[in-house]
Amino acid sequence: MSKNELFYQQKHVSDVISDEELKASEEYCRGYVEFLDRCKTERESVDYAVALAEKRGFVQYKYGMEARPGDKFYRSVRGKALMLAVIGKKSLSEGVNIAGAHVDAPRLDLKQLPLYEDSNMALFKTHYYGGIKKYQWVTIPLSLHGVIAKKDGTTVSVAIGEDEADPIFLVTDLLPHLGGDQGKKTLNDAFSGEDLNILIGSRPLGGTEESDRFKGNIMKILNEKYGICEEDLISAELEAVPAFKARDLGFDRSMIGAYGHDDRSCAYAELAAILDTEAPEKTAVCLLSDKEEVGSDGVSGMQSAAFECFMEDLCDAQGVKLRHCFENSFCLSADVCNALDPNFPEVSEKRNNAKLNYGMGILKFTGARGKSGSNDASAEIIAMLRNTFAEHGVTWQMGELGKVDQGGGGTIAKYMANRNIDTIDAGVPVLSMHAPYEVVSKLDCYMTYKGVRAVYGIK
Ligand code: MN
Ligand code: MN
Repeated sequence: MSKNELFYQQKHVSDVISDEELKASEEYCRGYVEFLDRCKTERESVDYAVALAEKRGFVQYKYGMEARPGDKFYRSVRGKALMLAVIGKKSLSEGVNIAGAHVDAPRLDLKQLPLYEDSNMALFKTHYYGGIKKYQWVTIPLSLHGVIAKKDGTTVSVAIGEDEADPIFLVTDLLPHLGGDQGKKTLNDAFSGEDLNILIGSRPLGGTEESDRFKGNIMKILNEKYGICEEDLISAELEAVPAFKARDLGFDRSMIGAYGHDDRSCAYAELAAILDTEAPEKTAVCLLSDKEEVGSDGVSGMQSAAFECFMEDLCDAQGVKLRHCFENSFCLSADVCNALDPNFPEVSEKRNNAKLNYGMGILKFTGARGKSGSNDASAEIIAMLRNTFAEHGVTWQMGELGKVDQGGGGTIAKYMANRNIDTIDAGVPVLSMHAPYEVVSKLDCYMTYKGVRAVYGIK
């Protein structure tokens, strides 16, 4: 055998992609950029996905409905997570093909009593969500998204700071002239979570005899705009996120800079793939989960029984036991991985770390300190995926979450595997993961879409 046959060779997607597919990847990424700009939160992502799915004939699944080949169903988990399924020709007892991504992303959540004034300015208190490097979240434009739930059962939607005509919000930082003491602190100590207060106003309501007039002015504006009083903010979920739009990055426009590639690059790949799916052999399931960035706990996280509930309802329709369905199922835990960064090569082992433009990154395991807390996919499952990807022309690479003992992390993979479902991690390699503005390669996004299509069995 020649060296070429003997050796494994990673492939740069540019070296193997056809002109036709290159065009298709551009088209695909235009859809992805629109998704990024319209969906800054988990709720917005779910709303967007439901609207697209309904246009393609998906209907809400209610217990007792039939589940025949080609039927398309969805179920929303409190508007914050979404499960979609296209029923296959084979019985659910033979298992389903699942792709699971998450639609929550690191951000600054408002506290329940957020509004206060200090030094003649009005501010919001925040509690950050997910793993952030706090210094990255100051002096960038922030928009505010979410809902305010009122006592009468109605909710008010909030989305302000995205439109060019909207105001934006911001966390201030110290001028370098007075930053001597700050500069001596470590990166982690220089900014405390409690100091990430968002500046939201600076004009008073009424004359100098009034108290709390800066806070008062903001409350008056909120009342006029949203019909709320301060107490209503207690039952609100308001998320401050970067107000940046997704943009082409690089002279060659080969990359996309945006907030929330983790994990919307995989969520969109799954959504686009399930919308393409018509009567597959095995039932195709798409999961857009919430709370991944904080451990997948809670009713809308991947540890929630909402998933079993949906799957069991479908199984009941076919007279199948859920546990038989699960043990024959496969799950692609579609989440981003870290791309090798030329500015920080010391944290990666370059033979095994995913690189930009080498396709979908497969991770056998994640975890930390000797793979702890990880789904460690079996050799057989990796072989199966290699075969599936080869048959469907998916360019892929192996990845790992940094050098041994450098750190680590996790995804929803272990929660799927704990259900007796064969699971493996794979997704888009990302630069500056969890930063307000992350970077991905367009070709990797497209290959991830192809990868999910391959799992669903679409040629
Ligand atoms: Mn993720
Ligand atoms: Mn993440």
